[in-house]
Order: sequence, then C-alpha cells, then structure tokens
Amino acid sequence: MSDPIDGAWNDIGEGCHAYIQRDGGWGWSNAGLIVGDGASLLVDTLFDNRLTAAMLQAAAPLTKQSPLGTVVNTHANGDHHFGNAVAAPHGGSVTVIASAACAEEMTEVGPEVLASLTADPTDVGDMFRALFGEFHFEEVELRLPDRTFSDRLELVVGGRQVSLVELGPAHTQGDVVVHVPDAATVFTGDLLFNGGTPIVWAGPLSNWVAACDAIIALAPEVVVPGHGPLATLDAVRDAREYLLWVESSATQAHAAGIDPWDAAQQLAGELSGTSGSWDQRGEFGRLAANVEAVYLELDPSAQRSDLVTLFRHMATLEGNLFT
Ligand SMILES: [Zn+2]
Repeated sequence: MSDPIDGAWNDIGEGCHAYIQRDGGWGWSNAGLIVGDGASLLVDTLFDNRLTAAMLQAAAPLTKQSPLGTVVNTHANGDHHFGNAVAAPHGGSVTVIASAACAEEMTEVGPEVLASLTADPTDVGDMFRALFGEFHFEEVELRLPDRTFSDRLELVVGGRQVSLVELGPAHTQGDVVVHVPDAATVFTGDLLFNGGTPIVWAGPLSNWVAACDAIIALAPEVVVPGHGPLATLDAVRDAREYLLWVESSATQAHAAGIDPWDAAQQLAGELSGTSGSWDQRGEFGRLAANVEAVYLELDPSAQRSDLVTLFRHMATLEGNLFT
C-alpha cells in the first residue's frame, strides 16, 4: 500500500471531492469524486495500481451509501487511467467512459513503455527514474474504456446531472472536462496544472486557449485541476496567458528561422518577464515541448522530437543534466 501522504481527499462541498497528490509534479495527478444518491462517479484513476488502491480505500467512507458506478478518464496520459483495472475490474459493474479520441490515444504510450524507460541502465534511465522512479508501471494492466463519445455526454449520477464536455485536442487528443452544474464545479483534467506548467502534447495551442475560454464560460466556483491544489478560474486565466505568450513568441522565433530547441532556450530566459512569473512554476522546462508544438502547427511536415530527446530538453531547461 502506498504511503498515505501521497494524497488525500478534500471535501469541496455538494457531494464533490478532490484527491490531491503531493505537489502535482510529473505523474502526481489528481482524481475527483462526485457522490449522488445511491451512485458515484470517479474522475480519473492514478498512475499505478498501488496509488489507485490507496485512493479508493480512502474514498470508501464516501462511497459506502453510493457505490462507484462510473469512471471517467479525462485524457490519455497514463497518470489518469493506468489505475483503471483496479477501479473498474473487467467483468465488474463499473463502466469506464472517455472521449473516442482519448480511447484511441490510450494505447500509444502504454505502461510497458514507461516500465522500460525507467528500467534503462543508462543515463536515459537515470532521467526517467528521477521523474517516474516511484511508480510501479510493471504492475499496470491497460484497461480501456467501455463507452466512448464525441463532443458532449450528459450523465445522471445518483439523480445529479454531470456533463462531460470534450474540449480537446489541446493537452492531448481527446481532453474532457467534467462539469457538475449543481456544485458549480469543474474537473479540468490536465487542461489545468495549478502551480505547474501546461504541456502541449497535441495542440493546437489556440484550441487550448479556446478550452480555457469554455471552462471560464461554465463559471465554476471550484476548479479541480489535473495536477496541483484546488483552484479558481484565476488559475485558468493565468494558463491562458501563458499559452498565448508561448504561441506568439514561438511563432516569431519560427519566422526568424530559429531552430525550435534554440528558440526554447532563448525563451526560457524570458519566462521571468512573463506576467505569471512562469520561471517560478513547476516543470517550467515543458516550454521545450510547447515551443515544438507551435513549430509543428506552423510546419506540419516537421517531426516531433522522440520522447527521450524531448525529456532531455525539458530537463536541460530546468538545469538538470543527465549526460
Ligand atoms: Zn497528468
């Protein structure tokens, strides 16, 4: 069993709860729980079986009268679905729902990829172990959604309305937010890293900005991010500003003929001048991936760096050299 200090359930009122893990850094994702009359819905599972089991055990008093019937995966990154087989065992009564685009993307970076990168005996393994060495990928069995949708899906969970709204592609191909109107709460998945830095795996950035606008339009009082502490819309507005800054800065660098990695290194020096002090945020080196995402939009024939190169760039920007 994982150490209970990894995460804890926070009561956010109106039968909604948020499980917040550590500082929300790489892999330390959040989960959510919406408790209705006689049924509950879980937003996301965690990065491995042990963390997910600990999270579910801590949720047991909350779901005693309203058993878990549904798991929603907000997107395809493993830290939001690798625990599915624990929360929703095959042949059981719990239904897993995700967007069709998310379900398709879930098989791209499976647990075996991360298990092998963290087991690598070279400096590549050192880098991945520094980020992901505490997770048990070798125990994870991929458990794909039972039900998929596109655009929007309205659910009734124990008499309460829960709206699943697809706002991707942005962070990933099929990002979904979970809106609970009667609690004025939105679970954003990784469309919001509170205290951390957005990472654009899919893009376009303009669509992530539009996703921020869509979240703002829902006017929630409580925003549960995919990583980091509970938030309000101020954090969404902050992230929106950052994305706009990256988009315009990287577009200028591209027009000037600067190589994307050179551009990322130059722009990293300008982060301290941004309105949100983005040089102080967790994982600020993700700028390397974000600049590359803008370049890929501008030139669709360009190639995304491989995962190892991308992580090496991000680590280098943060001053961590593994070579
Ligand atoms: Zn995540």
